[in-house]
Parts: sequence; structure tokens; C-alpha cells
Amino acid sequence: MSDLIRRDPRAEWIARNRLHPLHAAMQTAQSSWIGANGVIRKNPHAVGFIGPNGLKRIDRSGTQQGVTGKRQTTTQTVQLPLHVLEQPAFYIAVVPDLVGGRLSSHDKDLFGLAHTLAGSDGAVLAVAFGEHKESAFDTAGVDRLLHVEGPAFDGYAPEQRVLALSAVESQLAPRHWLLPDSRTGGGELGRRLAAKLGERPATRVWQVANGIASGRAGAGREDLIRQAPRLILAAVECAEPVSDSRHEVRPLALHEKVAHSLPRIEDLGAVAVDPALIPMAEAEFILSGGNGVKDWAHFHQAAAALGATEGASRVAVDDGFMGRERQVGASGIWVTARVYLAVGISGAIQHLQGIGACDKVIAINLDPTCDMIKRADLSVIGDSAAILQALIERVTAYRQGGARDAA
Ligand SMILES: Cc1cc2nc3c(=O)[nH]c(=O)nc-3n(C[C@H](O)[C@H](O)[C@H](O)COP(=O)(O)OP(=O)(O)OC[C@H]3O[C@@H](n4cnc5c(N)ncnc54)[C@H](O)[C@@H]3O)c2cc1C
Repeated sequence: MSDLIRRDPRAEWIARNRLHPLHAAMQTAQSSWIGANGVIRKNPHAVGFIGPNGLKRIDRSGTQQGVTGKRQTTTQTVQLPLHVLEQPAFYIAVVPDLVGGRLSSHDKDLFGLAHTLAGSDGAVLAVAFGEHKESAFDTAGVDRLLHVEGPAFDGYAPEQRVLALSAVESQLAPRHWLLPDSRTGGGELGRRLAAKLGERPATRVWQVANGIASGRAGAGREDLIRQAPRLILAAVECAEPVSDSRHEVRPLALHEKVAHSLPRIEDLGAVAVDPALIPMAEAEFILSGGNGVKDWAHFHQAAAALGATEGASRVAVDDGFMGRERQVGASGIWVTARVYLAVGISGAIQHLQGIGACDKVIAINLDPTCDMIKRADLSVIGDSAAILQALIERVTAYRQGGARDAA
């Protein structure tokens, strides 16, 4: 395993970007130097890097990529510079959705927007509700973290959460409130907060520049342009996420206890649903099959074992293995899954367009040079049937082990 060459697209991007603070750390080791006798010595083996297919590639500009097969990665050897703010002049408050307990790409875009509004004097405050599993608040750009915990805030509790947010308002009076204009909580919470604070929010905002907020209106065909109000409900890709600094994540607490609301709606908890019935555009975990899947019964078995919603490439649909409503891509459905597992799909541009908004892409393919592998965050090179079988066995063993532990 340790000898496998793994590409790190982020490190490669930093190596190309001369303005990035980690650019120097991502450069190749020195390949020429002045020897003891004053003659320039060159190490011809230090030029280039090993590509994903194991072949040596030479970068003619001489400035990209690692040297001898083992490249530096951001996580292993370098730390992003830490941004510290002792006395913030004001706060920009962000209330992330934290779907599944983790920051989504939409949440991260919001932190990017918050930093453009905070400038150098303001601090970005994240207000997080309930239990979460997130460990990367620092690289997402959180200067201060206010974690509001307790059973009253778990699950669907917008009334109780609005009370907590109005307590934050009285204590810190943020200059702006940013919430994702999403169907996963932020859209509703933001509108309720607006009513509570008596603010007129800007909704479906895709850009804030020079104090002007532009938001979609008129069934998405027009823009509503106005002075950026205090409360902004922002759309996906409203700004670039933070990528070049770490932040303190200094904890803050509310001075006063949040009043208890009498909820008119009671959350009875999550119910299990058949993943096959989840609309593709809303599915969180998609197992998608292409021309590289040879045994479709086995593929369905894997989807059932993983609890994944099924998707397909156009070739798989045209060949009659999957319904047209399962086709992912430019002429099918554009999906926004948190995890997209592509099995035997080459990664044609029309397919990649449909998965542009997915958080994590995993590829299983025989061809290490195909475009899906280049797009993927994690790749497994091998036969789809064998890898799906191994996955089914692992998941089954894990579930049985979990049931035994619980008994
Ligand atoms: C106008 C237009 C619109 C289109 N719209 C879409 C669209 O919306 N969605 C879409 O998907 N396509 C669309 N296409 C088609 C697209 O261009 C590709 O032809 C299609 O996506 C290829 O599907 P595929 O990756 O499943 O098949 P292939 O390109 O044949 O790729 C199969 C992959 O499986 C791998 N493989 C083979 N055997 C195995 C094995 N045993 N184990 C593991 N891997 C294996 C191969 O290495 C290969 O990478 C469109 C095309 C046009 C012209």
C-alpha cells in the first residue's frame, strides 16, 4: 500500500500557484547545487515526478510536483499559517448547516464569504448547534466558535435555535449574519431569524462585492441587487472557501441561559427510508455504475448493502441496465451527494458536469489514467466486481459486529 503513488490535487494546485503561502513548501527538492570545488552539480534523477500510472513524468517548467516518487503533502509536512485575532472590532456570524455533523461545501463557501466581509479587523464566528463530528473548523476559517448544545437544540428545532441566535445577537451584535439558503435547515432558520430580528434578508445571494449583494430572483432568471443587508442567506458558490490560512477556533460561550421555547412542532427523530426512493438530486450517498460494471445484480446487491442510492452513466442507461431517471450528467440529473462512488465510469465531461457539486468523489476503475480517477478524491484501481464484493463483505461484517457489540 505504502508504495502506491497517490496524487494530491490540492498540493499540485498549490505548487502551481505562486501566490499561495505554501507554494515554496510544495516545490521540488534542489536538483542542482554548487559542489565543493565550485562546479555546478546536477542530479538528473531529481527532475520530474512519478505519475499515477507509475511512469516518470517530466515537468518542463521544472517548478511543479515532487521529486522522487514520494511527494510532500499538505497534511504530512506543512501547516498553513495561523491567523490570530486578539481583539476583533466586530463579528461576522455564520450559522452552518452541518449536515450529518460536518461542514458541507456550501458551509465552507459561506466562511469564505464571511472572511471577505470581515477584512483584517473582524472575526468570523461560527454558531454550531447540537453534536458534530467536524474537526476542520480551523482550515474552514472559523476564528471563534460558539457551540450551542443540549437536547433542546438537537434535530429539527428552529424555534429553539432562533432563541439562541437572538441571545448571540444581544451579546455580540454581529455586523452580518450569514446562513446557507438551503433546504437542509439554513433557509428556514434564516427566514425565522429575520422575522425575529426585524431585518429584511437578502436571499439566494450568489455574490457580495463592494457592499452590494446580488441574489437570484424571478424564478432564477433575474438578479435582485441591493445594499448588503445585515442578514444574508447565501447560495452555493457565493464565494471561494478559505484555502490559505488556519484560524484559531477560539471557543466563546453565551453569558445567559437561552430561554426555553414551547415548540409547536415535535421532532420524532429520523426514520429509515429506502435509498431507492430518494430523488437523485437529494441523495446524500450515490453508488453509480457505468460500462465497467459487468454484473448488475451484484451492483444492486452492493447498493443495498451500503444503503446507497443508485445512479448510472448514460452508457449504462442506454444499454438498458438502469432507468433513464437514474442517469447522472449533463443530459441527466445534476447531483449534490456528499459521497459519490463511481464504479467503472470513465469520467466523460458530460458525466463530470453532473457531479460538479458532490463533496467527495470515489472512483473504482481499471484504468488509472481515466478522467474519473483524476477527478476523484480517492481512487481504487482494480476490477469493479472484486472491489464491490470486498466492500459488501466488509460492510456486512461491520454491521454484524456492531449488532453483536450492542447486544
Ligand atoms: C450530448 C451528449 C450528452 C451526454 N450526456 C451524458 C450524461 O448526462 N451522462 C453520462 O454519463 N454520459 C453522457 N454522455 C455520454 C458520455 O460522453 C460518455 O459516453 C459516457 O459517460 C461514458 O459512460 P461510461 O463511463 O459508463 O462508459 P465508458 O466510457 O465505456 O467507460 C467505462 C469505464 O469502465 C472502466 N472499466 C471497464 N471494465 C472495468 C472493470 N471490470 N472494473 C472497473 N472498471 C472497468 C473502463 O476503464 C472505463 O473507464 C453524453 C454524450 C453526449 C454526446
